[in-house]
Order: sequence, then C-alpha cells, then structure tokens
Amino acid sequence: MMFKRLAAMAMTAVLGAALLTGCGSSTDSTSEAPAEGATTAAESATGAVATSTVPTVTEGKLIMATNAYFPPYEYYEGSEIVGIDAEIAEAIGEKLGLEVEIQDMEFDSIITAVSTGKADIGLAGMTVTPEREKNINFSDTYATGIQSVIVTEDSDIQSIDDLQGKKIGVQLSTTGDLYASDDFGEENVEKFNKGNDAVMALSQGKVDAVIIDNQPALSYVSSTQGLKILDTQYAEEEYAACISKDNTELLDAVNGALAELKADGTIQSILDKYIVTE
Ligand code: GLN
Repeated sequence: MMFKRLAAMAMTAVLGAALLTGCGSSTDSTSEAPAEGATTAAESATGAVATSTVPTVTEGKLIMATNAYFPPYEYYEGSEIVGIDAEIAEAIGEKLGLEVEIQDMEFDSIITAVSTGKADIGLAGMTVTPEREKNINFSDTYATGIQSVIVTEDSDIQSIDDLQGKKIGVQLSTTGDLYASDDFGEENVEKFNKGNDAVMALSQGKVDAVIIDNQPALSYVSSTQGLKILDTQYAEEEYAACISKDNTELLDAVNGALAELKADGTIQSILDKYIVTE
C-alpha cells in the first residue's frame, strides 16, 4: 500500500514535469541546448529585460511569498530571509529586471496570496500537485524533494507501515499532511503551523513521528537531541514556483529565466551551496 504511494507520486512527478516543460525532462535542462518550449520562454524573458514589460503586482518589483521556516530553502538569518528560494528569486529578479521583495506568511496562505494578486510568485519548496494546479500555475521544476519520516531514536517505528495507528505530526497543508491524512486517517494526523512545532511535539512525546520534507528534516534532526530519520522514504516530489493563472506572461518570463539559470549552472550552484548531504 505504501509502495503504491511512492509509485503514484513518482508518476505524478514525471507526468507533471513532462507537461510543464512541454518536451524533454526537467532534469535535462542543464544540458546546453534548452528544450524547444524553454527557448521560446527564454526569448520572451530577454525581451522583458529590455522593455521591462513583465506585469507584476507593483511595477519593477517581484513580490515573493514564502514561509521562512523551511531550511535550507528559506529561513531567517537575523532579520533577513535567506536560502535556496531567496537566491533563486534574486537570480530570476536580476534576469527580469525586477527587485525582489520577500513576504513571510503561513505556508497555507501562499497560494491564496499569489492567486489574489497580493504577491507575484510563491517560492517555498512547494511541491507540484494536481490539486494545487487547479488553483495556481506552476513554473518548471527546479529541485526534487522527498517526504521523510522523523522518529525518536528509541522508536519502534522502523518502516512506513509501522506508522499505522500512530500519531503523526505534520505541517498544515503541506504534502506531508495531505498524504498522511490520506494514508493513515485524518484522526491520526496532528497538524502544526510550523514544521519545527511538529518536531518539538515529537521530542516531547506528543506525537510518534513527523512526516516532512527531507532537507528541513535533516536540519531539525541535527539541531534536536534524540531524533533520527527513517531510511525508507515516504514520497518523492518536485518543487516549483507558483504564479497566478492570470499572469501567464510572468510565468513565461520566469520559465525563461529558470531555463537560462539551469543551463548556465546557477541553479545547481545555489543548490550545492545549501544542500550538503544528498
Ligand atoms: N514540499 C511541501 C509542500 O509543498 C512542504 C513545503 C513547505 O513546508 N514549505 O507541501
């Protein structure tokens, strides 16, 4: 049953990537010749730089909505929000001639903020899902995520199947929440506003496990005593930026910028800077 989840997710990811890139796979995008669709988008992005015609909520600005408690994709360093997504937004902004402004909000509010014109782009280690695609457009993907399971070091939970009937902590409205509620029953899933609140509950014995993206999981486990990550992965997914369905010009421009940033190695070097363990 759990194997089914992995297979289904991988399939959605592949299908999603194929649909999003039009042709070729998203992992090819570092090759020298961009896919046909990407070339067109890149050209329109270049045009946008010259003429500054990319429409945004506030002229000249790219307002990015995120939830800055998702290391290493976004987190606070003092009062500044830094991380992979912040740097990718900065690189996109540079390409498009837009100044990036980051707005921190609950993860749950990001899609609404973007779709109602309060922000231009959501960059939040956000997984592409068919459900979300009903409300928002996703850019081409720029990273892969994995849903991991964190347990206490002395836990009897050794596999995904052992989660049956246990209390599982998740971050509200994340894919970890959606899959766990689906697989193990809403009544067994405890939803927290922040990932670290879920991890805190685990170390206090209030939940038996936490399902969360692997990179924040690694960061939480290294900063919290007595926790470990299960070897078995729960699901594989693709991260992308979300942009309003009403702003396809911005979507094309962002995809163009992403294609260039993948081709010249910028995206990979940003990922490598923050992701130490693969
Ligand atoms: N990748 C997960 C999702 O999209 C979690 C993202 C997050 O918490 N920032 O649901």
